[in-house]
Order: sequence, then C-alpha cells, then structure tokens
Amino acid sequence: MKTSNGIKIIENYDLVKLNTFGVFANAQFFIEINNEDDLKELFSCPEFKDNKKLFLGGGSNVLFTKDFNGIVILNKLKGIEILDENLDYVFIKSMGGEKWHDLVSFTVDRGYWGIENLSLIPGTVGAAPVQNIGAYGVEIKDILENIETYDIEKGEKKVFKKEECEFGYRDSIFKNKLKNKYFIFAVTLKLNKKVNPNVSYKVLQEYLEKNKIEVKSSKDISDVVVAIRKSKLPDPVLIGNAGSFFKNVYVNKQTFEKLILKYPDLSFFEEDGMIKIPAGWLIEKCGPIENGVSWKGYRKGNVGVHKRQALVIVNYGGATGEEIKNFSEEIINSVYYKFGLKLEREVNLI
Ligand SMILES: Cc1cc2nc3c(=O)[nH]c(=O)nc-3n(C[C@H](O)[C@H](O)[C@H](O)COP(=O)(O)OP(=O)(O)OC[C@H]3O[C@@H](n4cnc5c(N)ncnc54)[C@H](O)[C@@H]3O)c2cc1C
Repeated sequence: MKTSNGIKIIENYDLVKLNTFGVFANAQFFIEINNEDDLKELFSCPEFKDNKKLFLGGGSNVLFTKDFNGIVILNKLKGIEILDENLDYVFIKSMGGEKWHDLVSFTVDRGYWGIENLSLIPGTVGAAPVQNIGAYGVEIKDILENIETYDIEKGEKKVFKKEECEFGYRDSIFKNKLKNKYFIFAVTLKLNKKVNPNVSYKVLQEYLEKNKIEVKSSKDISDVVVAIRKSKLPDPVLIGNAGSFFKNVYVNKQTFEKLILKYPDLSFFEEDGMIKIPAGWLIEKCGPIENGVSWKGYRKGNVGVHKRQALVIVNYGGATGEEIKNFSEEIINSVYYKFGLKLEREVNLI
C-alpha cells in the first residue's frame, strides 16, 4: 500500500526478522522511517492516527506475545554529527536509527571518553534512553545531554533534558508514564575529550589485570568490553534471546537481613543505600519445582535458560512469544516461592 506522498505502509507484515528472540508475529501495518519527512508525513496518515503504535529499533528488548494489532514503525533515521566542542567536552548528536555500537565506534575511534563501557549493546540509539541502557558501571544517563522527540499525538517536536527523563535502573519516563507517547528521533551525548576511564566494575578490572592491559584510550576499554561480552553472552544471530530477561532486585536493609540469615551464601552488592541482589543468582538457586534442578541451563520444549547466563532466556527455535512469556512466569513464581522476591521483566512484552 502507498500513501499519496510516497511513504510505504505495508499491511500484514512479518516481524520475525525484526526481533532478536526470533519469534513469529505479524504487524497489521508496518512502515520504515528513513528521514524526518517520512515521519512528518506519517503523522497525517489514518493508518497511523487511528491505530495503536509501536516504535521499533533493533527489536532486542521486546517479546511479541501475539500479533501486533496496529502499526509498527521501524526507525532507520541515520546520521552522526559533532554539534559543538570545547577544550574538555564534545557534544555528539546521533539520529535514533543508528546502531548503538556504531555510535560507540564513532566516539572511540576519535578518542572520546564516555560510552566505551557500553560497547556491543545491541539495538538502536533511539531505544537506548528508553531503558537507560547500562553495562560495566556506566549508564547512558551519565553522558546524556538531551533527547529530541516527536509528540506522536500532536506531531510536534519536544526536547527532553536529562533531568526530565526520570532515569532509573533500566528505566525512564519513556518506559513508564510516557510509554509510546513520544518517538525518540535523536540523542545528544556530552563526552569527555580528556582521559577519563571508568574501570571500577570488578569484571572489567579483573580482565585488565589478568591480561596485563594498560588502558591508554577509550578504544582499549571498548575492545575489552567487546571481548568479555562475546565470551559471556549468547549471540542473538546464533540463538534467539533479548539479553537479560529480568532486572536485578533491589531490597532495603531490613529485607536483606532476613534473607541473609536464611541464605548465608546470598550474593549481593551495596549501592546507594540499597542492596542489589543479582537476579541471575536467584534464578540459578531455583528451578522447576517438580524436578529439583536449577533453572540455569534448563530447557523446556523450545525455550530455556542459557547455560552460562541464568538471566538470559533463549529460544532454541520455533518458540512462540506466549511460550517464552509463560516460561518466564514460571521462573518469577519459583523465585517468589523460595525467596519472597518478585522478579521484574526487563524485556518489553508486546
Ligand atoms: C545479547 C543482548 C545483550 C544485551 N545487553 C544489554 C546490556 O548490557 N545493557 C542493557 O541495558 N541492555 C542490553 N540489552 C537489551 C537491548 O539491547 C537494549 O535495551 C537496547 O537499547 C534495545 O534497543 P532496540 O533498538 O533493539 O530496542 P527495541 O527492542 O526495538 O525497543 C525496545 C523498547 O523501546 C521502544 N523504542 C524503540 N525505539 C524507540 C524510539 N525511537 N522512540 C521511542 N521508543 C522506542 C520500543 O517501543 C520498545 O518498547 C541486550 C540485548 C541483547 C539481545
């Protein structure tokens, strides 16, 4: 189907290649946005105005549990530019459809510091603020200057400053109050020009020491992060997954004290007055009740928990989104049954 001015809206579109879980789902309507004019034109189309909307980047943080009864808008807006710089900082604007790791490469190749710890996170720049992507001791909020969006009801531009985004752990205003209300079309980052490594994260530190690597550039850190991630995380090209399926759990001191009395081997980290309990540890310590085995490496039909990463649910091939959702429900219930803690999904159920 073509609209009058040429943007192409397709009916009944197969989304299997557009989500890293590789589950089958159809979109009632589908459009790929390649420039801002496409977007502006889309706002006046009835297929857009009259239907439920889903903005999609790399599909690496979504689980389609059924067909999408509305319009899916695939973000392909490209372009990275240096907006401004002074002696200390550089301001880089990236369009939302750029691949996140391409932006990381752009910055480390020029010697800028700030997002090297976030190397190799799949997906697009536009989706990165939605869950405040984070890894190896850094979150996008740490270096974010502003976000340019379109209000999808009014079709008007709005710039969000960092303070307005209500960032939290794998969270932002765009994942909550303003979910699906704004399209993020560009992101500006404020990066350091002076040497500013962040190697506080234990795994990173250990790798650098073990391999006797002296950090001289942000590219050095990026290379290390890439190597660690490749050794630890399953590649969605080889096996369907969406990275960490669940969020880590934060508890207060009181809850923590009760837990540690009962489970002296409890894994935990202290962060800003709260205690973080790795969800992967909790999952590993639980299992399907009837079997008495751990979830880690456990497979049920086409779905399973990855053998090296208890946080990652994988699609061995042919699993439906519903099957994966139900499997995740079983994990949530078993963790709650044993520890009294409610796991939250990091992945967006659609
Ligand atoms: C192997 C693997 C490892 C991962 N590791 C990490 C990690 O270390 N840290 C981490 O934080 N995440 C990680 N993730 C999760 C994922 O990569 C990030 O959440 C990423 O930012 C998702 O980008 P995407 O473009 O694929 O988003 P999508 O999956 O396409 O979308 C995610 C959500 O954002 C919304 N959205 C997407 N684009 C826009 C837009 N332009 N405007 C408004 N809303 C939008 C969607 O509607 C959806 O709700 C990992 C995933 C995988 C598969």
